[in-house]
This record gives sequence, C-alpha cells and structure tokens, in this order.
Amino acid sequence: MPPPDFLKDIFDKVDRDKSGFISIDELQKALSNGTWKPFNSETVRLMIGMFDKQNTGQISFQDFGALWKYVTEWQNCFKSFDKDNSGNIDKSELQNALRTFGYKLSDSTVEILMKKFNREGKNTILFDDFIHCCVMLNLLTASFSQHDADKDGVITLQYEQFLSMVFSLKT
Ligand code: MG
Ligand code: MG
Repeated sequence: MPPPDFLKDIFDKVDRDKSGFISIDELQKALSNGTWKPFNSETVRLMIGMFDKQNTGQISFQDFGALWKYVTEWQNCFKSFDKDNSGNIDKSELQNALRTFGYKLSDSTVEILMKKFNREGKNTILFDDFIHCCVMLNLLTASFSQHDADKDGVITLQYEQFLSMVFSLKT
C-alpha cells in the first residue's frame, strides 16, 4: 500500500468538486480504458458498490486505499494477460485468463462472454469491460455454487428461486 500522502494527493485530484467524496462521475473521469471513450459506467458502479463501506454511493478517503489497490491489481492483471501488448484482450487471451482464474469453460461459453463484453464490437475486450466480465462471472459462479451443495455443476431451481438468485446479485 502506498503512503497516505500519496493516496491523499490522488484522492484530491479525483474529487474534482472537493466534496470529500468520490462520486461515480468523478471516478469514471479518473479511470481510463486505454481509449478516448469513457470508462464503462457499469464497472465504475460495481467498484463503488464494492468499496463504499458507509453505503453512501460514493467513496470516502477511508475507502479509497482499498479501491486504489483493487484498480492497480486489475491493471497489472490485465497487462499480464494482454500477451501481445495490444491494449486489449482477444479471445485466446481471455481463454487463458479465465483458465488461470480456475474457470473451466467451453469454447462456446467464452464466445458468449466475448460477444457480451466487447463493447466496441471488434472481438477484443478493453480494460473496463474485462473487469466487468470477471466480476460478473465471479458473482454468478459464487451464487451458483451456493445452490450446488454436492459440487457436481448441476442445480435445480424453481422459477422464483431463479429470480431471487439473479436479483440478489450485487450488481
Ligand atoms: Mg466529489
Ligand atoms: Mg491483446
């Protein structure tokens, strides 16, 4: 973890309106996905939800260290899987990343993820969408596992159980 002064400096720069909190909008402006397009607001919302310990919908300086660390770790992770240094993740890079994270997914499932998370429609995934993809996959897998007591990869759900499973996801 970097020294508090260093973090405070970044925090103050990101907190453009000097409110003492980082809003969704402020965080979105501070993050880059490597293009001129704005950082995916869904990913920003997910991250704020994860680190906003006081449930204000914003990030205080106390929460900021953990958020900063999280983003930095994702940056390193993204770089390490972007083997060709293209600034984005292609299908084989995504396959490799997911395998490394421990997911056993068929080619067609990876294809579905690729379709859903390549916002540019170019069959490559940018930094912000990569985080979004991995966080969603993690949440869905955790939710599935809760119902899969015998760990055979099969669950039986009634309609309303399914709805409650989906709607109770923290997304
Ligand atoms: Mg602010
Ligand atoms: Mg690449």
